[in-house]
Amino acid sequence: MPMHNMRISGSKTATHFGGETFLIGGITMAAILLLVGTGANWLSGFWGIVDYIGQSRGATASTLILNIALILFGWRRFSELSQRAENSSRGEAEARQMAMTDPLTGFYNRTAFQALGKQALVDWRSSGLTPAALMIDIDAFKSVNDLFGHDQGDKVIRITAERILSCIPANAIPARVGGDEFIILLPIGAETHPIDDYGQILASVLSYAIDIGPSSISTSSSVGGALCAPVDGAGDDLDTLLRHADNAMYQAKRTGRCRFVRFCSNMDAALQQRDVIERELRIALERDDIYPVYEAMIDLATEQTLGYEMLARWNSAALGQIAPVDFIPVAEETGMIARLSEQLMRRSFAEARDWPEGLSLAVNISPLQLRDPWFAQKLLKLLAETGFPAQRLIIEITESAIVDNIALVRTIFESLRNQGIRIALDDFGTGYNSVANLRSLPFDTIKLDREFVTSMDNDAGRTAITEAVLKLGQAMGLPVVAEGIESDLTATMLANFDCAVGQGHYFSKELSNEDVLAAHQPRAERRRSA
Ligand code: GH3
Ligand code: MG
Repeated sequence: MPMHNMRISGSKTATHFGGETFLIGGITMAAILLLVGTGANWLSGFWGIVDYIGQSRGATASTLILNIALILFGWRRFSELSQRAENSSRGEAEARQMAMTDPLTGFYNRTAFQALGKQALVDWRSSGLTPAALMIDIDAFKSVNDLFGHDQGDKVIRITAERILSCIPANAIPARVGGDEFIILLPIGAETHPIDDYGQILASVLSYAIDIGPSSISTSSSVGGALCAPVDGAGDDLDTLLRHADNAMYQAKRTGRCRFVRFCSNMDAALQQRDVIERELRIALERDDIYPVYEAMIDLATEQTLGYEMLARWNSAALGQIAPVDFIPVAEETGMIARLSEQLMRRSFAEARDWPEGLSLAVNISPLQLRDPWFAQKLLKLLAETGFPAQRLIIEITESAIVDNIALVRTIFESLRNQGIRIALDDFGTGYNSVANLRSLPFDTIKLDREFVTSMDNDAGRTAITEAVLKLGQAMGLPVVAEGIESDLTATMLANFDCAVGQGHYFSKELSNEDVLAAHQPRAERRRSA
């Protein structure tokens, strides 16, 4: 166990034993002093005053024997207490060590790491060293648990920790801070390796397969590294250092995993931008500032509007118009997505309730929301509160939602479909296993990703994929919705391939609720209000 950095302080019990030991020690010491004093008397009596010998020697001898007995008793008691105090403080040190460490790896836990890390920053800087952090997260670890079981998952975590230890200097502070996440704090100086060396070696060592008897588990980790800012500079604290290392680690994940990435300042700019968005998003949620707009879904054979897809829009007072692609991931990372989605759904259900009865409303659901076992109940409650009929609602989910937890997603699907809600598989074709996912759950519609549709009219490859998806939909009895239609040619090609529904700027721009209502006003009424 790498407890080379453990600092152990005193305790109450040790103090208690210390007090008693001190008392016994004092008595013994007093007895020794008495013995010395009595012994001196005895010696002077022996040589000087013979007349008193008989009486004095008898009394002095008793005192002497008593003193010796006291010393022996005191000494024994002193030894016993010292032993007990030693045992007790060893037990307490072990208990404290357990409280500071992660039992699976022996690495520090998050609480202990924070305290030791802050002190290390001070100590290393005073020795002219630059504190650095390495953030390590095992890649696709969930699938290790899923494929090999939790015990083998634990083994992978343990072996990863051992491998990390073999690559870092003795004075580094290793911690396990999440299921498959580790932080290493280490000092960098003229005499040490640069941070990149440690990061690259770790990424390489952690990519070797792990032996589990007859077979092996292939594994890898993403590693992010950062150096601490100079003292008194902006972000010279431990929290900023760790955030930078974390940011670099996510960059490693985003750029392909199984690699090391060092933090650099443009990541900082992105990070700061993200922090600003997070701050403003919290305010926007408090004020219910994010609003729905609607994109028409058109029957390609008749050009009739069948319904609308709700899209989130945010015009921030501080930041201007922010695209969903910038704020939805932040809402997901920070746990705000469920609240944001609820606000948007509440508003759009209330608005769509007053649309003509035949019009459906499609809403996007984040994969994270489908991890909530109460999601179906919450959605149905919202429908009841707003009075929007379940039969007019379509929920759109992406493949990543299914991969996460298929058993729970299936249960949620059953509850929703029992109430008449339809379910669309969104962004079809962009995932890893679209066809398998399509077969594994009862979808009502496939939405072909705009990536294939938008450039269909000048890209034969994409046209072929679109045609194949449409044939697949027909074979499975599932209507296909093509999104991202921007030209007449694309709309005609899709209609010729028997694609059922299309949406995109070719048909209409995004509409407010008022625009939708106006578009469906009877012609006579429209003339009157004009
Ligand atoms: P990514 O590459 O994006 O990191 O994907 P991932 O699958 O590794 O996802 P993530 O890091 O979020 O998953 C961590 C998983 O670790 C989630 C949880 O089921 C699992 N886990 C957490 N603690 C333990 C543990 O003590 N033992 C085992 N075996 N698994 C754990
Ligand atoms: Mg992971």
